[in-house]
Amino acid sequence: MKRAISGFHVDVHGDWVAELDCGHGQHVRHRRPFVMRPWVATEEGRAAMLGSEIDCVRCDRMEWPDGLTTYRRTPEFDAASIPDGLRAEHATKRGVWGRIHVVEGGLTYHVDAPVHRSLRVDPASSAVIVPEVRHRVEPGGAVRFFVEFARVRAR
Ligand SMILES: [Zn+2]
Repeated sequence: MKRAISGFHVDVHGDWVAELDCGHGQHVRHRRPFVMRPWVATEEGRAAMLGSEIDCVRCDRMEWPDGLTTYRRTPEFDAASIPDGLRAEHATKRGVWGRIHVVEGGLTYHVDAPVHRSLRVDPASSAVIVPEVRHRVEPGGAVRFFVEFARVRAR
């Protein structure tokens, strides 16, 4: 899915990495003649690319980024106390990730476009909530769970 470039840094090999607003990094190499990105070599070129969107396959794969800061955790819900807002389609804000932890029982986690997946979550697994991707949860009988939220560190 498309993510905006929020910054750049150089990795240990000296290659430029674009920092995306989802928290993932993506190499933006200039490798003549295969990959032409002359803009990456200059500070002006990179500055001009801030805010541009590029595809993040790691978001498509629902991969938890490194270096997030956990900042909030919901109370534990059960099938009766689960807020209507979680059963209905909703999404977290830009740069906000979530992780569904099931303590007991199980639920089904439906993820809308562009991911299009339905996952069964139980105490042996946890599910990743991707920023800005619409989703909902459906309790499957008795369940106890909570959600933990983390955000991209300010850079
Ligand atoms: Zn991403």
